[in-house]
Amino acid sequence: MIKKIAVIKGDGIGPEIVTEAQKVLDRVAKVYGHTFEYRDVLMGGCAIDETGEPLPEETVKVCLDSDSVLLGAVGGHKWDDLPGDKRPEAGLLGIRGALKLFANIRPAKLIPALSDACPLKEEITKNGLDLVIVRELIGGAYFGKRSTTVDENGVKTACDSMAYSDYEVERIARVAFEMARKRRKKVHSVDKANVLDSSRLWREVTHKVAKEYPDVEFSDILVDNTAMQLVHNPAQFDVLVTENLFGDILSDEASMITGSLGMIPSASLGEGTLGLYEPIHGSAPDIAGQNKANPIATILSAAMMLRYSFDMQKEADAIESAVDKVLNDGFRTGDIMSEGKTQVSCSEMGDLIVKEIK
Ligand code: NAD
Repeated sequence: MIKKIAVIKGDGIGPEIVTEAQKVLDRVAKVYGHTFEYRDVLMGGCAIDETGEPLPEETVKVCLDSDSVLLGAVGGHKWDDLPGDKRPEAGLLGIRGALKLFANIRPAKLIPALSDACPLKEEITKNGLDLVIVRELIGGAYFGKRSTTVDENGVKTACDSMAYSDYEVERIARVAFEMARKRRKKVHSVDKANVLDSSRLWREVTHKVAKEYPDVEFSDILVDNTAMQLVHNPAQFDVLVTENLFGDILSDEASMITGSLGMIPSASLGEGTLGLYEPIHGSAPDIAGQNKANPIATILSAAMMLRYSFDMQKEADAIESAVDKVLNDGFRTGDIMSEGKTQVSCSEMGDLIVKEIK
C-alpha cells in the first residue's frame, strides 16, 4: 500500500522524536511491503519564524491532500509573548478545525514494565488500568464566543461560552460506542448535567445514541466524580466520552496515573480516515536538541495511525509489541529511568524498537 503522510516536526524536541517515529515507520514499510511518502510541512514556532503565521495555508493544503498527519509538538519560550492567535498553539487549534477532527482519542494504559512509575498504590492498580478517553475536540468553550469588556465603573469581565449542538454530541458519542465495541464494551459519558444546559443536551443525545448499541454497557457520570474515580478505581472504566474542556483536564489526569508523559500517544479523527497523530506531551524545550527525549509516545502515535487511518492492524501490533519488548528488556530513556535499567538516548531507543520489528 502507498500512503502519503504529512509530517509536522514542530519545535523543541519535535524534530528528534518524529525522526525516530519515521525510522520505525520505514522499518514497517520494509517488512510489510508498504510505501510511506513523507511531506514535511511547517506549523508552530518554526512556521512563525519562516512565514509569520503559526499555521501557513500551504500546511493545511498538504495535510488535506494526505492520507494522514504525523505531528511532533509545537511551542517554546521564544514565542510566549505573542498574542493568543499568533502563538504556536494557535496552529494546533487551527489544524484540528481545518481538518474537521472532532474526536481526540487518548489511551491510558498501565504498562507492566513501568508499573513502578505509576503514582497510585498497588492495591488500586492491581485490577488493571486500561482505558480510553474520547474527547470532543472542536466544540465547547475552546471554540465558543468569547469577550472581555470593561463597564463604566472600570470592572473588567471576561466571558467564554460553552455551546454544543445535538449533531456534535451525536457524532462523538458514536465514535465512543464503536470504540467500546472493539474493547470491553463499556461507555461512561462524562458531563455536568446537574448544572450546565450544554451537559443536559449532551445527556439527552448520548442516551438516544446508546439505544442503538444495546450490546454496550452505558452509564452517565458527573465530571467531578470522574476526576475522583480515576484515582480511586480506574479499573471500572473502559471508554469515557466527554466534551472538550472536561476531556482536556481528565485526559491529562488519566495520562499521569500511567506514569510518564513521554509514553502516551493520541489520535484526532474526523468523519473519514484522515487523522492527526501526536504524542500528548509538549515540545519540552528544557531537553530539546540533546538527544534525551523519549520518542515512544510519538512511535506509538505512528502505530495508532496505522491502526485507525490505514487499517494496518498487524503492523500496528508489531510496533506496540516491539515497544513492550524493548521496555521488558530493561531499556529506558531518562524520563522513565529507574534503578537497574539501561539508560539510552532518544535515537538509541528508536534503533532498539526498529530492531524488534522483524
Ligand atoms: P512539556 O510536555 O513540553 O514538558 C513537561 C515536562 O515533561 C518537561 O520537563 C519535559 O522535559 C518533560 N517531557 C515532555 N515530553 C518528554 C519526552 N518525550 N521525553 C522526556 N521528557 C519529556 O510541557 P511544558 O513544558 O508545559 O510545555 C512546553 C511547550 O510545549 C510550551 O510552549 C507548550 O505550550 C507546548 N505544548 C505543546 C503541546 C503540543 O504541541 N501538542 C502540548 C503541550 C504543550
